[in-house]
Amino acid sequence: MLNIFSIIFGAIIGSFLNVCIIRLPREESIITPGSHCPHCNNPIKFYDNIPLISYLLLRGRCRHCKKSISLQYPLIEGVTAISSLLLFLRYGPSLSYLFYFSFVAALTIMTVIDLYHQIIPDVISLPGIGVGLLGALVIPHITFFNSLMGILLGGGSLFVVATLYQWLFKREGMGGGDVKLLAMIGAFLGWDAVILTILFSSLIGSITGVFIMVLKGKDFKYAIPFGPFLSLGALIALFYKSEILSWYLQFRG
Ligand SMILES: [Zn+2]
Repeated sequence: MLNIFSIIFGAIIGSFLNVCIIRLPREESIITPGSHCPHCNNPIKFYDNIPLISYLLLRGRCRHCKKSISLQYPLIEGVTAISSLLLFLRYGPSLSYLFYFSFVAALTIMTVIDLYHQIIPDVISLPGIGVGLLGALVIPHITFFNSLMGILLGGGSLFVVATLYQWLFKREGMGGGDVKLLAMIGAFLGWDAVILTILFSSLIGSITGVFIMVLKGKDFKYAIPFGPFLSLGALIALFYKSEILSWYLQFRG
């Protein structure tokens, strides 16, 4: 029963994340005005704004102008509902669940905004660093010291990489947004997870980069945003950190 509640709660939060994803880059208020159709500007009634369900009932089209509603809406609502359930199954009704769910929600917003606009909003990452550090005071899964080390290692390591890259290639490879994002990941997950996040995100990122270059031709000079890969790496670290560490340690005898 509570599991179903966590799915519904996740879908409702997902609906709010959609609003943040659309409005934060435009620096619009995320509270007012209420939702409206981007095509005909008609306000969306509450019964047409039920996460996931309304999209299915309306068959993905606006009630008034019949133009299609972006697939982003049900997709984000679905992904957020599933992550809420997975975290609830792991942590139960606890502060830890809220702590990690807000972390995954922040990653979701930043990933989609980075994909659309190649920016990572400071209004999410900077408060996120604070929430992670303060949360570490009350959450049993991470110590305050580990969180602090995570911020320093996450922010520091990428800052060095970004500075070196710019000095070597005379162009910006990694933005300051990535630096603050990895600092936030460190705040929530700790310094050991920062190392795993860097490993997985650069591995998956370079495979994807090579793949895109092969598909689009050799002289393809297009900076892929790194934020989504950092988020993906952080999710792997969040869900599989202890498994990966024990797998690694068994090779050391
Ligand atoms: Zn419309």
